[in-house]
Amino acid sequence: MPLSASSTRVAEPLLASGADMCRWIAELYPICRSITGDGVRETLRRLNDLVPLEIHEVPSGTPVFDWTVPREWNIRDAWVKDASGRRVIDFQHSNLHVVNYSIPVRCRMTLAELRPHLHSLPDHPSWIPYRTSYYNETWGFCLAHRDLEALRDEEYEVCIDATLQDGSLSYGEIVLEGTTAKEILISCHICHPSLCNDNLSGIAVSAALARELQAKPHRYTYRFLFIPGTIGAITWLALHQGSVRRINGGLVLAGIGDTAPLAYKKSRLGDSEIDRTVEHVLRHSGLPYLVTEFSPYGYDERQYCSPGFNLPVGRLSRSPHGQFPEYHTSADDLTFVSQESLAASLQTCRDIISVLEDNHSFVNLNANCEPQLGKRGLYRAIGGNADAGKSELAMLWTLSLSDGRHSLLDIAERSGLHFASIRDAARLLLEHGLLQQQIGEGGTESTQKT
Ligand code: ZN
Repeated sequence: MPLSASSTRVAEPLLASGADMCRWIAELYPICRSITGDGVRETLRRLNDLVPLEIHEVPSGTPVFDWTVPREWNIRDAWVKDASGRRVIDFQHSNLHVVNYSIPVRCRMTLAELRPHLHSLPDHPSWIPYRTSYYNETWGFCLAHRDLEALRDEEYEVCIDATLQDGSLSYGEIVLEGTTAKEILISCHICHPSLCNDNLSGIAVSAALARELQAKPHRYTYRFLFIPGTIGAITWLALHQGSVRRINGGLVLAGIGDTAPLAYKKSRLGDSEIDRTVEHVLRHSGLPYLVTEFSPYGYDERQYCSPGFNLPVGRLSRSPHGQFPEYHTSADDLTFVSQESLAASLQTCRDIISVLEDNHSFVNLNANCEPQLGKRGLYRAIGGNADAGKSELAMLWTLSLSDGRHSLLDIAERSGLHFASIRDAARLLLEHGLLQQQIGEGGTESTQKT
């Protein structure tokens, strides 16, 4: 079957709603994740209940290109107690209170000595900032600025009950085999603690997508990665150098749960099939959207698009990375993501995959002048309604450009029609013996630079 059967349906319980994804996010929210450690493992274990995944462990010290897999960080508790023994900063209240990856510490100090280790946001005095110190051995606490200002000049007891030891970097992977070995990569980061839009939204939509795809037939092989940001992508690429060329397109899903319009950041290639597909889907969505060119800053698209790999991997987000006030603060909480946005993000991913799955090339078997559509019942009598005219136009465009060199997406773009109209036209023309699939299926590849 050259075009996916329109009757392919996924069982209802496997289709996630916005409410389902919000529930998953709420369950994962309290876990203290980092780039390594038990928080990531616990997150992967819980995801495994939603969709079976393989958990990989890469030992600390493993060289990965210019980097090294770091030691494993685990934290049990942390606090700052005032002279009366009261916890004035308490990790049990929010895991954002500790600078992520802090070295262990246990000491007494004055406020003046403690002060350089405290981080707050004067512009948002009730928010706790999220800070990390992955590659610089230090420690610190984050707190609301109003709480910082309330600290009295006295002696404090400081404790970060954490370990930083050789262990491993954990990541999760789901490979859903298709009829071809060519792959679509979906990647999200899993290294942020209690932050919802930044990491949990991407995790939830990726898991939802994987659940659906595992339950229906597909042409592409889909590879889902749940990895710690930066070092996880670098590690995965270092360990899979021989197979990355199978990746025909991919998406980094990050920050897709807030209420800003969807934003697509193109791959470094800029005009690969995934770039054109996402832009097409967004343009026909009827919703506001943003498309931006590639830049070597952001999430893991930086690694997938690094010049040595130059993979066709773009990024789907909402609020621009790092440019909204709630970014990397306690305000990126459960109220910052919405069911509607998550559901719309998931639907957009479905639409993108639907185009990729059906983006074939065909050859017109009646290329000498137009075939007579009327005698085949494909051309309505004069005065047909507007929709009928549209479907006829889609057939004419499909016949005109089906020379084996244009994919259905090429035809959709050239005609200005929605991909679904062109696909439906191709399906009808195939049924009437007017098209055949291009031998060797050059279509999707012809528009692809690798
Ligand atoms: Zn982040």
